[in-house]
Amino acid sequence: MSFPKTLRSDFPIFEKKCWNNELCYLDNAATTHKPNAVIEAVSEFYRFQNASVHRGIYSQAESATAQFEAVRTIVSSFIGSDSNEIVFTSGATEGINFVADAWGFHNIKAGDHIVVSEAEHHANLLPWLRLAERKNAKIIFIPINKDTDQLDFDESIITCRTKLVAVTHCSNVLGNVWKHGDLDLLVKKARAVGAKILLDGAQSVAHQKIDVKTLDIDFFVFSAHKIMGPTGLGFLFIKSNVQDDVQPYQVGGVMVHSALPGSLKWRTGPQKFEAGTQPVAQVIGFGAAINYINEKINFCKLSSHENSLCEKIISFLKSVPGVKVLGPKSDSKHIVSFAVAVVHAHDLADFLGECGVAVRAGHHCAQLLHNCLGVEATVRASVFCYNTAQDIDCFINAFNKARSIFGL
Ligand code: PMP
Repeated sequence: MSFPKTLRSDFPIFEKKCWNNELCYLDNAATTHKPNAVIEAVSEFYRFQNASVHRGIYSQAESATAQFEAVRTIVSSFIGSDSNEIVFTSGATEGINFVADAWGFHNIKAGDHIVVSEAEHHANLLPWLRLAERKNAKIIFIPINKDTDQLDFDESIITCRTKLVAVTHCSNVLGNVWKHGDLDLLVKKARAVGAKILLDGAQSVAHQKIDVKTLDIDFFVFSAHKIMGPTGLGFLFIKSNVQDDVQPYQVGGVMVHSALPGSLKWRTGPQKFEAGTQPVAQVIGFGAAINYINEKINFCKLSSHENSLCEKIISFLKSVPGVKVLGPKSDSKHIVSFAVAVVHAHDLADFLGECGVAVRAGHHCAQLLHNCLGVEATVRASVFCYNTAQDIDCFINAFNKARSIFGL
């Protein structure tokens, strides 16, 4: 299948003109657009069904529950887990805070080590910094190498004190930061000392095939909105043999067998972790997103499509004096971040925005990474299946206009 010609018309957002041009959307690492199938599934749910799940015993409620649970199965096969290992959350951020509170708070003790990398998004940094502070534990960083823009993993950092490794699968600034084989080695070493492993899949899940069993991890998180699904929904994979060590993150409706004072008894499986009224419409919308992806996306072809668009951006940027392109030289890129010497990232992104080109600027909630790389802010262009070579031409034309304005 050739990207993106066969796909773009499935995304109604591109019918909208921006400054008389088609929308040139290069901010997919922030959020992705939704195909008609997703928008319709959400709208159909509200129009014709709209019932709470795991409660009512009338037909709409029972059918909503069946659809809701069917999505758990769809998501589990998508990432290679069992369906009772999938917990619905509000996003990757909540998933990580969940693990920090519901597992970390009860299992991390004074003097324990939590291993993270310098390339983490704040969502996978702050929960661990706060937990370490509360428990008097120590954070150990896998450093980023300024020359290669890759993580320098040294296996000696994993010791018998290591209780958790919580790392990014793919950086939201640099893309794939792992040297070949390093992530596997890290997991192997962590397993050998009995540490738990959390992988932040927010930036990987839409761009490569995930198999949590092969990755051999305990926790995996991602957000629906970064993979064509609705906002306000995320997923937390908790390996079944770890679930007994994880407490409920929130307590409330549905997650309890007995709520009588003195004899509290939580439900088991995912229900133990899903208190309150679930985001049913979002879940059903996400089921439609995964069905769409399974039908239309081949991850190998997607990767080579995204890589060729990124290469086009990079070869242009390299021809512009004063522009520093960040990121490892991997051949599966979907993110290009760059720093420009004479103009602030925000001013450039603002100008590009006025030309109808949507990019992100700043530290992208990865302040530590920027600090380590010695840059205050970067501009980030990120692509997905519906982007075209014309989008990149549009970016280049807008950038060339910026050159004359800012004297680049
Ligand atoms: N991790 C990474 C690598 C991310 O890029 C993001 C979102 N930018 C998150 C975690 C948090 O995702 P969300 O805001 O959807 O919870």
